[in-house]
Amino acid sequence: MTFLAEFIYIIAAVLFVVGLKRMNKPATARRGNQMSSIGMFLAILGTLIHFDILTPEYILIGMVIGSAVGVILARVVKMTEMPQMVALLNGFGGIASLLVGWAEYHKNPSADLYTAVTTFLTVVVGGLTFSGSVIAWAKLKEVMSGKPILFPGQQVVNAAVLLSVVVGGVIFSIDPANNYPIFIGLMAVGLILGVTSVIPIGGADMPVVISLLNSYSGIAGCLAGFVIQNTVLIVTGSLVGASGIILTNIMCKAMNRSLANVLFSGFGSVTTQGKSEKKGEVKSLSAQDAYMVLESSGSVVFVPGYGLAVAQAQHACHELASLLQKNGTEVTFAIHPVAGRMPGHMNVLLAEANVSYDLLKEMDDVNPTIDQVDVAIVIGANDVVNPAAREDKTSPIYGMPIINVDKAKNVIVMKRSMAAGFAGIENPLFYKENTKMLFGDAKAVLQELVSEFKKS
Ligand code: NDP
Repeated sequence: MTFLAEFIYIIAAVLFVVGLKRMNKPATARRGNQMSSIGMFLAILGTLIHFDILTPEYILIGMVIGSAVGVILARVVKMTEMPQMVALLNGFGGIASLLVGWAEYHKNPSADLYTAVTTFLTVVVGGLTFSGSVIAWAKLKEVMSGKPILFPGQQVVNAAVLLSVVVGGVIFSIDPANNYPIFIGLMAVGLILGVTSVIPIGGADMPVVISLLNSYSGIAGCLAGFVIQNTVLIVTGSLVGASGIILTNIMCKAMNRSLANVLFSGFGSVTTQGKSEKKGEVKSLSAQDAYMVLESSGSVVFVPGYGLAVAQAQHACHELASLLQKNGTEVTFAIHPVAGRMPGHMNVLLAEANVSYDLLKEMDDVNPTIDQVDVAIVIGANDVVNPAAREDKTSPIYGMPIINVDKAKNVIVMKRSMAAGFAGIENPLFYKENTKMLFGDAKAVLQELVSEFKKS
């Protein structure tokens, strides 16, 4: 039975690896996801077979409840609320590992040094993943303020908490059987550490934090795998841990910031809006005027942002792009890595509207030639096209790479008002000579443009 279970685990692990690999291209991502789900099913099946003498109905009940909750959550969640859901799922992963570690302690309190160390690390990392994820969820859900919560001596408190983990961990690992109160204390400290390390981080940095917590949930799972000596848990935990840290790194690079800066700088608590230079004048235009500009354009770059998701304007956007192409205009979509509210947000929306993958270009491929583009159409994007990131050293987002739409020959910005984006800062792009604002809900405005094209 154990041999069969191990064999199934190996197939599950292969499916996880191949599935993950397939997720790196939009065309194969769906299949990759399906492969990984089958891998997960096999992993549970392997566990059922492995524990046939114990009461497998508990695992079955857990599987049915977990699957039902997962299906319902995935069906009801709005696309714009996906990061919150990912945060919660990371948290569930963390608490699951903590519970495994805790249960294992009760099964074998006089464990050897190796098991004691992995058990205490499991509950600490699991606990901090859980509480940190709940705080990240609350910040994104706006249950609590997205502003960084900073207090004097915060770093000292964090350092003291970390030190207590090390000291408590050593005492517990030397004699686990007689140190149950310390074990409980370690769990509590892990939970506190999650809270104290996430509250000083601003809402705008939550995507990075969530991807880091994703990595932590993998590490906690991997550690739990070592505690219960379960191969598939070790493999999946390592995959999640490694992919989470790679994504964290990609996102930090996209914002031109170090991980330490994201975690410790309290980004977003700064009230400065950058230097208060004379802003200039905002020029707006109507959909009819925009049509005239677009109708005679040789090349157009669409730059979607969070507002595209809010307005659910992806289909209208695709329709306009197709009409422009029919009119002989060269069309591309420039995708910023942190546009929207989750990694890959724009890719998902545009794929849903059947926009061809070939039209999607990454920021680094678009920027070098953007000055030759006739019109850049910014649809509900703000921070990712804010030239202050390039020009204003006092700006909180200074150094973040942006799509340089301000360098295009003409810029049309579609948004409802002059309101700021996620980072809460002014955007000098709106006052530039070559920029015109097309105020309104992105979907309504795009539909107006589509009907102008159809009229002609
Ligand atoms: P922003 O949040 O900077 O700006 C979005 C803009 O969309 C707003 O200024 C808003 O202006 C406009 N908008 C909202 N609703 C509509 C609508 N119905 N029609 C038209 N416009 C609308 O978005 P960006 O995509 O430019 O930048 C993403 C920001 O979010 C970055 O700061 C990033 O760090 C952060 N972030 C990214 C995550 C990710 O993983 N991608 C996750 C979490 C945060 P108005 O109200 O005037 O319409």
